[in-house]
Amino acid sequence: MAEYDYDVLIIGAGPGGYVAAIRAAQLGLKTACAEGRETLGGTCLNVGCIPSKALLHASEFYDAAANGTMAKMGIKVKPELDLATMQGQRIDAVKGLTGGIEFLFKKNKVDWLKGYASFKDAHTVEVAGKTVTAKNVVIATGSSVTPLPGVEIDNAKGVVVDSTGALELTSVPKKMIVIGGGVIGLELGSVWRRLGAEVTVVEFLDQLLPGMDGDVRKEAAKIFKKQGMTLKLSTKVTGVSVKGKKATVTVEPSAGGTAETLEADVVLVSIGRRPNVDGLGLEAIGLERNQRGQIETDHEFRTKIDGVWAVGDVIPGPMLAHKAEDEGIAVAENIAGLTGIVNHDVIPGVVYTMPEFAGVGLTEEAAKERGEIKVGKFPMLANSRAKTNHEPDGFVKVIADAGTDKVLGVWCIASVAGTMIAQAAQAMEFGATSEDIAYTCHAHPTHSEAIKEAAMAVTGKPIHI
Ligand code: FAD
Ligand code: NAD
Repeated sequence: MAEYDYDVLIIGAGPGGYVAAIRAAQLGLKTACAEGRETLGGTCLNVGCIPSKALLHASEFYDAAANGTMAKMGIKVKPELDLATMQGQRIDAVKGLTGGIEFLFKKNKVDWLKGYASFKDAHTVEVAGKTVTAKNVVIATGSSVTPLPGVEIDNAKGVVVDSTGALELTSVPKKMIVIGGGVIGLELGSVWRRLGAEVTVVEFLDQLLPGMDGDVRKEAAKIFKKQGMTLKLSTKVTGVSVKGKKATVTVEPSAGGTAETLEADVVLVSIGRRPNVDGLGLEAIGLERNQRGQIETDHEFRTKIDGVWAVGDVIPGPMLAHKAEDEGIAVAENIAGLTGIVNHDVIPGVVYTMPEFAGVGLTEEAAKERGEIKVGKFPMLANSRAKTNHEPDGFVKVIADAGTDKVLGVWCIASVAGTMIAQAAQAMEFGATSEDIAYTCHAHPTHSEAIKEAAMAVTGKPIHI
């Protein structure tokens, strides 16, 4: 009889966990995945990437009809919102994709252990009252919303909500206050602004989108303001009170000063996410967490406890689905005795608004701290395809090492920046110079030509400006 029930047991079936499970099974390991949710796919498929993109995509069409973009192209329509149908297609998208993971588990012979798992020792886990043993256990429990002290989130009531509640609203709020001008606040704030809400974003810092390049952050503020959002930067929320269906939000300057109150029908709390470890029984295996509550690993995703590994949002690094997926593949390969690697220096990030904001590698500020750099910039207004499509906002910026010309970072604001950034990530993965990108033939007319032109601008020679 085998020493353990499984070669690998993965805790959590989000992009980190389900991908690790499938790859482990593909590599011939006997694999199980414990998931407490009703459906597989984690935050990403159930209440994150996918449902938010379903609403962003649909509301973008509505906005294009309502804000005159379609009229500019000779299509005059007065859109009528059928929110129930819009929400229905979101639910369908989630159902289809989470069901798809269940199918892939069956196809690859991954056992889904239904329930929340808790460690008994490093090789023994309890799931829904049953004890299961495994030679290797991968923690892929993901993250959940960071609460704002003193502010009670009640998604069922629908007044003070987190991202999950903001995805499920059944009517368009007249006034919405978004606490936190990060990715979730801007994506979901955009959805409801497009559908008719007056949206105010309250951000603690002096710019939106922390972590992104400084020029991108400044441009983001201009673009979102132009689209009709009210931005209260350098402002903190000190309290939220709810009376019936109305909320009163008290804010004051981040540095201190006079407080003011704002009224809203819906308040979205989106100030970040924190790792999920409650109830996991980490104390039973003596696994400590760092100051941010994350589980630390080495480059192979091993924790300090022999046989226990971790990937995804629960470990340090950007909380992104594709980062979790790549780590899921790598951890399974490492467990199987292969060499699984993730290059954490080249992980693209995308904000899926209109236009999209995307970047990979170093910001200009971080690159300058490391040494001499050259920067090439090209405006989307001078890109033939963007101009023709009535998408004038944005630019591409290529940052290269002044001595070697190696590309250190690429930043794009464009309608399809999320798609454009893939070529920059691939170029950087291959160690490209700005000259390599500048001399790569790009199809015309495409938005991606702006990346070529920004690379040409690194040496001062773009053609179209
Ligand atoms: P998760 O997806 O959080 O999955 C962890 C799973 O583990 C959960 O299903 C949970 O139920 C389960 N679990 C936890 N504890 C236990 C336990 N003890 N036993 C059993 N199961 C357990 N990222 C992007 O890259 N692109 C996007 O467009 C994007 N949009 C987002 C939009 C929103 C609104 C949100 C909230 C997030 C978004 N993200 C996006 C982030 C992305 O969802 C996460 O980075 C990603 O899901 C992390 O994957 P993970 O596998 O580490 O964890
Ligand atoms: P975030 O870290 O992107 O933004 C949070 C913002 O809230 C920051 O700008 C921060 O300065 C601000 N903030 C913090 N405390 C505040 C306070 N008291 N008052 C006002 N502002 C305050 O976090 P998020 O938007 O909640 O997203 C969480 C995670 O989910 C992110 O790490 C992100 O990577 C991931 N996510 C990714 C995508 C995507 O890839 N498109 C989409 C959604 C979420």
